[in-house]
Amino acid sequence: MFPTIERLTASAYTVPTDEPESDGTLAWDSTTIVVVEARAGGQTGLGYTYTHPSAAGLINSTLADVVTGLGAGDIGAAWQAVVHAARNLGRPGLASAALSAIDVALWDLKARLLGVPLTALLPAFRESVPVYGSGGFTSYSLPTLERQLAGWVADGMTQVKMKVGRDPDQDEDRVRAARAAIGDADLFVDANGAWSRKQALRWADVLAACGVTWLEEPVSSDDLDGLRLLRDRAPAGMDVAAGEYGYDLMYFRRMLDAGAVDCLQADVTRCGGITGFLAVAALCDAHTIDLSAHTAPSVSAHASTGVWHLRHLEYFHDHVRLEHMLFDGALSARDGHLHPDPSRPGLGLQLKTTQAEQFRVA
Ligand SMILES: [Mg+2]
Repeated sequence: MFPTIERLTASAYTVPTDEPESDGTLAWDSTTIVVVEARAGGQTGLGYTYTHPSAAGLINSTLADVVTGLGAGDIGAAWQAVVHAARNLGRPGLASAALSAIDVALWDLKARLLGVPLTALLPAFRESVPVYGSGGFTSYSLPTLERQLAGWVADGMTQVKMKVGRDPDQDEDRVRAARAAIGDADLFVDANGAWSRKQALRWADVLAACGVTWLEEPVSSDDLDGLRLLRDRAPAGMDVAAGEYGYDLMYFRRMLDAGAVDCLQADVTRCGGITGFLAVAALCDAHTIDLSAHTAPSVSAHASTGVWHLRHLEYFHDHVRLEHMLFDGALSARDGHLHPDPSRPGLGLQLKTTQAEQFRVA
């Protein structure tokens, strides 16, 4: 029924941020996206991941070979072939990011070959996906922080997230300023693993007084006992969340089995693409825990329509900006939701090749 995959190639683009950015544990001034294009039957499927450009080299030199020649409808077989090929390369990290971009490209390709939107291939739990605005970097001035978060609320979002954990002397003032700027909207914070357990316990009380309802990575996401401690002892009404660094299903199983989170996060461009993301969603269903989609909004929106216990999707400033710069058809939030376009086949994305070329690094 489906033609064979004729060619699969990867390229990478590094785009400067609009100003220097930082969170509790990292600072950066650019974002790299690795784009995969898969060709079959006169159609090109597109997938991507946010990682180091070397993932493009890994795909072009090794992983593309195990996918080329397979049937374009056999996404599971291709997924498994890439997992096996990556076995001795170090599956978590770069290899899983590469796997994710390949998987997304093949889902997009299959939908395009059928002439249907990608969401038509997924369980249809919803037509649109609730989002929260995400940015609020620790590098921002107070006016920039206030303007960004209030802007999302003015655009119809009822939930916004800011970064904390870099400078304890400034965080309380920053959170209070954010709270004042957004009125009744829900305020989320992300410490990116910056705090010790006891620091995080103290901050949970301080943040609760500012009406914070979402505490992300208060301690390292590898400290499952620490996350569980925070989950059990944080004030009522404050959810503990983590999971964005999950690259395989067992990672998420360990996190859920440890009772470490009130809401699990997963990144479709890291956790094995749409195939991996749907598996994580099933784990969440079995644990009666909500799933929140981490960033990459123009792919995550489609994937999230297929998730039963979906909480929301992270509408991340850097990725929203980059996806609109590089892709025709990138999604924009409307009334606090992303709406995958049912009139466009696949993901509905087209790489702006001329515009992208100036940013190409691989
Ligand atoms: Mg985070």
